[in-house]
Amino acid sequence: MWAQHSCYLVEDDDQYTYEMIQADLDSLHKLFPERTHLFSIGTSEFGLPLSVLRIGNSTPKKRSLLFVGNIHAREDYSSKFVMKFLNLYLLSFSKDSIVYKNATDYLNEVDLYFLPVANPDGLKIAHENWKGIEHFLPQIKEIKRLETFYEWKANGKGIDLNDSFDDSTHALNRSYNYSSVPCSEGYKGAFPAEPIETKAIQTFVNNINPLMTLSFHTKGDIIYWADSKTHHYFNGIDSLINSLALQSSGFSFVPVSPNPATYGGGLENYMRFKLGLLGSCVELSFGDSYRKQFADNQFNSLVWKKAWQIPIICIEQVIKHAEELEGIHQRHKREN
Ligand SMILES: [Zn+2]
Repeated sequence: MWAQHSCYLVEDDDQYTYEMIQADLDSLHKLFPERTHLFSIGTSEFGLPLSVLRIGNSTPKKRSLLFVGNIHAREDYSSKFVMKFLNLYLLSFSKDSIVYKNATDYLNEVDLYFLPVANPDGLKIAHENWKGIEHFLPQIKEIKRLETFYEWKANGKGIDLNDSFDDSTHALNRSYNYSSVPCSEGYKGAFPAEPIETKAIQTFVNNINPLMTLSFHTKGDIIYWADSKTHHYFNGIDSLINSLALQSSGFSFVPVSPNPATYGGGLENYMRFKLGLLGSCVELSFGDSYRKQFADNQFNSLVWKKAWQIPIICIEQVIKHAEELEGIHQRHKREN
């Protein structure tokens, strides 16, 4: 039904490339020039822009949420999800295409930031979309690879971005797929925040301090919403938001992550530990033991149908608890 709407642009049934996403961000900005602001927070290792779109008035609000996709290269349902939510949110401003009925009202309270592709080089590698990065191909082929390019998870230099954030766990961080050398997955880098993409994202979140960051991944139909080091910061607001998100999606409950050696280094961990702000990692589509991703044309049935309300629930709850969340963040800043 959405495909018939002239302002629905997202390719949710077929492969959605980095270039298509860039073009759609540009078009959405042109279609909604008053409400959207498009800019880049830096470039990838191969020089591709890390594009962010903000929904809000011309002057940025102090309170915001951030939605991030494709930190992991092969997990392209995640950028599709962020783009689909963004597009339908914008369409909800006009009476004839409302999906999210309070979309306009929320903007009185918060700005919404979207970084659909946090790892452009990796996404292009996973799509074997070499256009514009041909001259990096020899060095990409040098990197240790598990399975085919299609299963690539790291950035263009073979570092797993979601193991690389500087949340003070770098030394002990050892994920299940640990690699001691650059690899298509499981290598955390030689030092915290080594990848240029990680540095750019850290600088960005330190500037905007989003009250909540939702980072989208695949697989599992679960949300990693809390860890043992930081859960107590949030006075139960994290538990409340998580339980509402689970109710709406039917996702399974995950306990508070107990071991920093296995959960550390993710963007969500960085947001909680370094900034005292809410961070969740949402794993879209059901879990299995294969690296291979599900087919593009299953996105709506495996992902969207279940998870479409998760972002809006988070927006509502963050607005409801904004003052308390700001207090938690301020106290964290003073004490650290
Ligand atoms: Zn992932």
